[in-house]
Amino acid sequence: MATESTQDIPAAVMPTYGRIPVSFVRGEGSYVYDDTGKRYLDGLTGIAVCGLGHAHPKVAAALAEQASTLLHTSNLYRIPGQERLAVRLTEIAGMDNVFFCNSGAEANEAAIKIARLYGHSRDVDAPAVVVVDNSFHGRTMATLTATGNRKAQAGFEPLLAGFVRAPYDDIPSLEKIAANNKNVVAVLVEPILGEGGIRIPDAGYLDGLRAVCDANDWLLMLDEVQTGNGRTGRYFAYQHTSIVPDVVATAKGLGNGMPIGACLARGVAAEMLVAGTHGSTFGGNFLACAAANVVVDELTEGGLIERAAELGDRMQARFRAALRGNNRVKEIRGVGLMQAVELVEPCTQLIGEAVEQGLLLNVAADSVIRLLPPLTMSDAEADTLVDMVVGLIESLDS
Ligand SMILES: *Cc1c(COP(=O)(O)O)cnc(C)c1O
Repeated sequence: MATESTQDIPAAVMPTYGRIPVSFVRGEGSYVYDDTGKRYLDGLTGIAVCGLGHAHPKVAAALAEQASTLLHTSNLYRIPGQERLAVRLTEIAGMDNVFFCNSGAEANEAAIKIARLYGHSRDVDAPAVVVVDNSFHGRTMATLTATGNRKAQAGFEPLLAGFVRAPYDDIPSLEKIAANNKNVVAVLVEPILGEGGIRIPDAGYLDGLRAVCDANDWLLMLDEVQTGNGRTGRYFAYQHTSIVPDVVATAKGLGNGMPIGACLARGVAAEMLVAGTHGSTFGGNFLACAAANVVVDELTEGGLIERAAELGDRMQARFRAALRGNNRVKEIRGVGLMQAVELVEPCTQLIGEAVEQGLLLNVAADSVIRLLPPLTMSDAEADTLVDMVVGLIESLDS
């Protein structure tokens, strides 16, 4: 690899990631560039983060303006940009209020804390949250416990009490839990499993979840950390249906690279967190909200959400045409710009091969090529992305 770093990563960096030995020095739109000037088409956007692409002029301008004015004062004082963002997000989501934090894990932590307060408000002494297999909710102790991946949990025992696990996309299993476990007060679930390999549930799944939650007075809490902010062709993935959850956690794409998370709540769930019960020093600060306000404006008024749907359909049609009859391909699936090609065998080596060819992609669940490209791509860039991935898959056949 021409771009391979000649120096090892310093031992001073904790080795929590198996890093690819390439580093980028700048980005523009759908591309990033390394220090040799080599260009890479970004099919991953920093894991569903830079939905508006790299170095977006309006995001850059808003950040520069805010950075030279005021960065941070804490939540002990009012933050106008945060208030504006709260009003915009709650309107979009059909929610009543929002708590701002700095990451997806923290947004889910807030949701779990809401569920526990809600349980105690109903005199449930040991409130429990139902979570599903193959989910990913973050790396803090509570969100790690909620995550449905034993490998991620190994070594961190004791995990937290108060979680009940069920299979994904399985409403009858929830009905069974409801009949047998009176401690359950909420369900926390991704509308589409992201890290789990872009698994799309049956069309009726969210409606089924809403019905079970309503029948049992459970909170329906959706983890839209990855699916939110236009990624699936709606602002939130649940907006493909007519249901409204009680709690929505989001982060990743909200700040286009500025760290920001949000936990939105509605109805009784919105009444749980009050002064002194939760907080975050950095949460919703001036700088993060300056970026997020541009993101929300561009997604809604700039037409990028519709564009995500259009580009996703285009990519999927092109994949289907190009890969028809390819016996390495198990399934092509996706919603909006969460697109996946699942192969019949593990294919993590494709990540490095793609880098060599100037393409960034990810492989989830060992055999699922996962694409989370910018919502600002041109048609031509989307076609190039598909063609490059098809080329990689075809190279496996030889
Ligand atoms: C990435 C992700 C998280 C964790 O977000 P962090 O910002 O890394 O804490 C939680 N849930 C889902 C669905 C995610 O994709």
